[in-house]
Formats: sequence, C-alpha cells, structure tokens
Amino acid sequence: MTEKTKFANADEDQKRQLQVEQTQIRNRLQQIKHKILVLSGKGGVGKSTVAVNLAMSLALAGKNVGLLDIDIHGPSVPKILGLEKEIVQITGNTLFPVEMTENLKVMSIGFLLRQSDDAVIWRGPMKYQMIKQFLKDVQWGTLDFLIVDSPPGTGDEPLAIVQLLEDADGAVIVTTPQEVALSDVRKCISFCSVLKLSVLGVLENMSGFICPKCGEETDIFKSGGGEIMARQMGVPFLGRIPIDPQIVQSCDSGKPFVFHYNQSQTAKAFENISAPILELDNNAHELVETQSLIKGDKKMRIAIPVAQDRLCPHFGHCDQFAIFDIDDNLKKVINRNDITPPAHEPGVLPKWLHEQNVNVIIAGGMGQRAQQLFTQNNIEVVIGATTSSPEELVSAYLGGTLETGDNICDH
Ligand code: ADP
Repeated sequence: MTEKTKFANADEDQKRQLQVEQTQIRNRLQQIKHKILVLSGKGGVGKSTVAVNLAMSLALAGKNVGLLDIDIHGPSVPKILGLEKEIVQITGNTLFPVEMTENLKVMSIGFLLRQSDDAVIWRGPMKYQMIKQFLKDVQWGTLDFLIVDSPPGTGDEPLAIVQLLEDADGAVIVTTPQEVALSDVRKCISFCSVLKLSVLGVLENMSGFICPKCGEETDIFKSGGGEIMARQMGVPFLGRIPIDPQIVQSCDSGKPFVFHYNQSQTAKAFENISAPILELDNNAHELVETQSLIKGDKKMRIAIPVAQDRLCPHFGHCDQFAIFDIDDNLKKVINRNDITPPAHEPGVLPKWLHEQNVNVIIAGGMGQRAQQLFTQNNIEVVIGATTSSPEELVSAYLGGTLETGDNICDH
C-alpha cells in the first residue's frame, strides 16, 4: 500500500467513525423535544446562573427538563445547585444524570472531576472527546427540554457542541451591559448565524441594581445596551435581570435562586425570560407532527432479538425479532409484531431491519462491524441488555432506566 493510499484510508476510517458517533448522538438525544444552548461572548457574565434558573423555571412550569453543564473550564452547575457531593452512576458506557427533583435531571462535567478546585488542563482533542462523550453517553430518557450550559466564547468548544448537537432549537445569549461584553456578544450572534443556529434571544444580566433598602435603581454598569444591540442585529431581546445580592448568596450556598426566592422581583424577571422558551413546547405538539409529516419522518420502531420470549444474546442467531411500534408523544408501545429474520449472513440483518423501518435495536452483544453497519443504516444500537422479556426492556428504554452491562458478544 502506498503512503498516499494509507492516508486516504485513514481519512475514510475517520469520516466513517465520525458518522457512527454522530448517529449515536442523534439517537441518544432523539427522545428530547427541545435542545437549547446557553451561550455567552465571555466568561463571568452569569451564563451558568441563567442556565440553572432557566432550567429550574421550566421544571417549575411542569416540564421534564435536563441540564447539561459542559463548560469544560468552569463547570459551576454542581456548586450552584448544591450537588457537589453527588456521585454519577455509570453502567457500561452509560452515564446517569443526577435527579435534582422529579422533573429536573442534571449532568455536569464537574461531577467527574475529583475536586471542584481541580484545574482542568486538557488539550484540544481531549476536550472535543469529552464533549462528544457527554452528548453520546448520558442517558436522559424522555425530556421536554435539554438546557446546555456551553463554554463561553466562540472557539472550538462551543463550535463542537453546535455541530454535534445538529438540531438544537437555538441559543439564549447572555451578556452584561458594558460595551466590552456587548462587543463579544456581537461575535456570538455572528457565530450563531454562520452555524445556522437560531438566536432565541439575548438576555442582559447584571442590568441595574435595585437598592434593597430604599428601592432606588442605580445603573452600575449602565443598562439597556443589550436591548439596543439585539434590535440592531435583528434578534429577539428576552429581558433584563438586575444585579441582586441574593443571586450571589443563593449560588454560593447551592440554593437554586428561582426556587428559593420565588416571590422576588428578580425571580419574576427570570420567569418572564423563560416564558418564550416555554412557549416553544406549548406549540410543539402540532409543530412536531407537521414537521414530521413534511419531512416524512418515521415513527420510533424498536427491534429485540428473541428466543422463547426473552432477549436472545446471540443476536445473529435468534429465532425471531420482536418489533415494537412506539407512540412518539406518549412514549408507549402501540403494537408488537414478531417476525422471523432471513438466514444469518454477514451484513444481512442491518439492511433487513432498516427495510422494516426499525430505528433502535436492543441487543445483548454485537461485534464492532455489525454495530457500524447498524449505525450506517441509521439504527441506534443499545448493547449489553440483559436476557429479560422484550416488554420489560422496551419499557425501561423508553423510561430512560434501561441498564446495560458489557457487550456480551461471543460470536
Ligand atoms: P459565567 O457562567 O458566565 O462564568 P456565573 O453564572 O458563574 O457566570 O456567574 C458569575 C458570578 O456572578 C457568580 O458568582 C454569580 O453568583 C454572579 N451573578 C450572576 N448573575 C448575577 C446577578 N444578576 N446579580 C448578582 N450576581 C450575579
């Protein structure tokens, strides 16, 4: 093999690998209705504070919410939510988020660092791997919203997140009123525009100070610049959050602000800012139906290799496949149909299951090549499932509680 062919092959392998991972991310996140990135032009403007309080406001409004803190250099979500001592549950390759409340799940890169004060010194490729891993391996289950607290700026890391997420609804951009912050925010808006990511709105944080004693408002850093800039750049303005000493206190003591100070004026400001985001879901039902009709999207269909009505660990040699049709909105099984596969030959099953419109396969074990073929056919592969009844496995998968162990492929 010539040097040139060697390089060309390596390039092809890399592309294929990327495609596989992209499909895994897409499949992993497909039970999430809305993905929203919280961005800022620079650090220290209150991006994490906004991400946490936005997630909490949506959860308080009754939505199922996930909060993903992927700010590699300063993962502050565990501290803000008082979750610093939490230990993440890991099964096989799957990371399970921490349940802050019944309908608010949290995952942070900070949970995986030994000490909250550890300095993270990672080279570019490692950061990219970490971000990818977080999008690929966290088991969220069904969510109305995933709020992503992204690294600040417009560099490689936010770029990787936007590209890997593919179908995010858009970004909420946080700024403070000073000119230096506003100029960074302009870059952030152009960044979204180049990447074709909608800007859901700009939020001006630390905008004015209301004296707790006399109630007089003082514009310490000026205010209103964010609104003018948003208007000039043709993006929505979501509102202003004042400087509020209770925010610092609540962040430092791990008490989510909008939850513990829900009667305050500042909590009302957060509520107003969350309202248009909440609206995304209130119109979502019809929108998703229409979009999927327009795109001709397929419904979720899950296949499980079975023998004697239990998962068969030898996926290539099972008697039958149990095929489940799923109601996408209710996340419930509407139909089960058992079908006999064609005779086993390498490469036959991924193609055949694709023709059956299957988009998820739950298996005990599977070789590397077969996994690649499934993902190339846009079929998510869940490996390491136990030999339980297919109904149990599907219901655990839909509820986000499917436990997976090692890949037990012995063929
Ligand atoms: P970023 O994620 O942009 O780096 P953080 O959300 O970590 O910023 O906030 C930085 C600091 O500013 C924290 O101590 C936080 O408590 C404080 N802070 C954020 N917003 C406000 C506000 N509106 N009023 C007072 N303090 C705030």
